[in-house]
Amino acid sequence: MKARGTLLIGYDVERIPGRVPGEKWVGQALAENTAEMFLEAALRIHQEVGVPATLFVVGCKIERLRPQLEACLASGWFEIAQHTHEHYPLKTVVEESPDNVYLPGLPFDRIEEQLARPVELLRRCLGVSCQGVTAPYSHYRGLADRPEILEIIARHGMRYVRSCGRNSRDYFPLGWDVQPFWYDRQGFPELLETPMQGWIDAQWRREHGWANWAAYHAYLKEQVDRVADAGLCWSHCQHDWTSVLYDEPLDWTRKFLQYAAERLQLMTHGDFYQQMRRPGSPAAARDLDCGAATDARPH
Ligand SMILES: [Zn+2]
Repeated sequence: MKARGTLLIGYDVERIPGRVPGEKWVGQALAENTAEMFLEAALRIHQEVGVPATLFVVGCKIERLRPQLEACLASGWFEIAQHTHEHYPLKTVVEESPDNVYLPGLPFDRIEEQLARPVELLRRCLGVSCQGVTAPYSHYRGLADRPEILEIIARHGMRYVRSCGRNSRDYFPLGWDVQPFWYDRQGFPELLETPMQGWIDAQWRREHGWANWAAYHAYLKEQVDRVADAGLCWSHCQHDWTSVLYDEPLDWTRKFLQYAAERLQLMTHGDFYQQMRRPGSPAAARDLDCGAATDARPH
């Protein structure tokens, strides 16, 4: 029997007026209250369609967005996790792309604070135990080459990381052969990576026109079909500011959710983690295969 495809929707709630996103990069000004507007519309459409999602919120906005986040939690459709405290890159990004973007990673001695403060704020403001983090800008190989950052994430009680989003050119799209994996080689066998394959919404839409929702929607539907046909797992990323740009009521996002809900199982990242941990799950079987492969390797 073919495995059913899985869609994990993760919205990055990250608008920090004056800094995130860079308005020069976007090419236009964005509303100061983008995050509030987005959360209110997202709650409405997820209730209408009846599908779950994860909100990855920057820590520095948690107190201000508390009423909207509380309403999302109360609906039962949302998991809340974090997108670091202030949205600085955890690793250096060196794109080979039309823009050749270069973003220096945060010095290591500032990383723990960026990961620990949202955990504390989510607990104090919302009573939420933070299960995961999505890395700003995403990275080639995720955090597979930064075990010292994985150690901080695991030590603060998180179970999953969404940090793989770029290919070997440190750009997009990330290939579909990159599927969820455990950071066992790095010494964290209970820490799961959930990659964001394909194009990140912000980059696709910047290259094809921010107002060009119809073409972006067609692109997303193709990816849903691909995930359904091959029984893959896809962590799809949208942002607060991209979602409301030229679509304040989130009509296009609602259409995408409806299309996906008919073809895929939709889960929060936290629920997907729990599914992967269950004995007898495809993930558990895959662990055994990996173990056999490791044993067979010459020493
Ligand atoms: Zn972000």
